[in-house]
Amino acid sequence: MEVRSVVQVITSHRQQEGAGFVVRRPFPTRGFPHADPFLMLDEMGPVDYAPGQAVGAPDHPHRGFETVTYVLEGETEHEDSAGHRGRLAAGDVQWMTAGRGIIHSEMPSRRMQSEGGRVHGFQLWVNLPARDKMMAPRYQEIPRATIPTATTPDGLATVKVIAGEALGVRAVIETRTPISYHHWTFAAGARVDVPLPREHTAYVYVFEGAVLVAGRELRAGQLAVLAEGDAVSFEAREGAQALVLSGVPLREPVVQYGPFVMNTEREIQEAIEDYRHGRLGTITR
Ligand code: MN
Repeated sequence: MEVRSVVQVITSHRQQEGAGFVVRRPFPTRGFPHADPFLMLDEMGPVDYAPGQAVGAPDHPHRGFETVTYVLEGETEHEDSAGHRGRLAAGDVQWMTAGRGIIHSEMPSRRMQSEGGRVHGFQLWVNLPARDKMMAPRYQEIPRATIPTATTPDGLATVKVIAGEALGVRAVIETRTPISYHHWTFAAGARVDVPLPREHTAYVYVFEGAVLVAGRELRAGQLAVLAEGDAVSFEAREGAQALVLSGVPLREPVVQYGPFVMNTEREIQEAIEDYRHGRLGTITR
């Protein structure tokens, strides 16, 4: 088994999004525009909002990719132009395939807006292959209780398998192309090798504590770009939490204009026109 070495470490920058919430963003960044097949990773918070202060992302469109929201703390409410509506609490995942287009809102719950509270979570943008960019929008909402989890025999490492497979458990979410999305929690002394398909590109994002990835220390807020191989090796000297993201790269042109990600400029112009003319629908309230 060949362990994947670390080819690059990226320290995230801070960026303001939506109505003014701050995210920690390892990519896209200057010199690292995307991580094929992923387009963006944002860590929201952790931030403590006072009553009346919590902000979100009011109505906005997407086309050509998927948005994956994973809530660690807090509570969000969402609505979209395809008639979906729901609430995500701690541990829940929403895997939204925008396909040909959707308009949605992603807001702190009414309770959080009035009472305040802590928000922490992730939003990952997963690119769609050219053949799926105009598919009908699809929506998968997975409550915490149905996300498979597993623990190493020594009890020192635990994984939540949002996509793909780890420690013999398989995710319940369907992806358009092969993808792994794991949330690992390490106690001090944990050592684990995580197999990942060789044909995947792979990334590790550490968001709490510090952990050695293939012998290289990564601290909270850092992303490791991994080389080819069969597995990623972790060794924790202290408690740590990390995401493992991997997938078969699409190797297709990426043309992005804000919330639209297509393959050509012409397709972007069409997306803008369709949006302007209301062809991405409206949220019925
Ligand atoms: Mn969105």
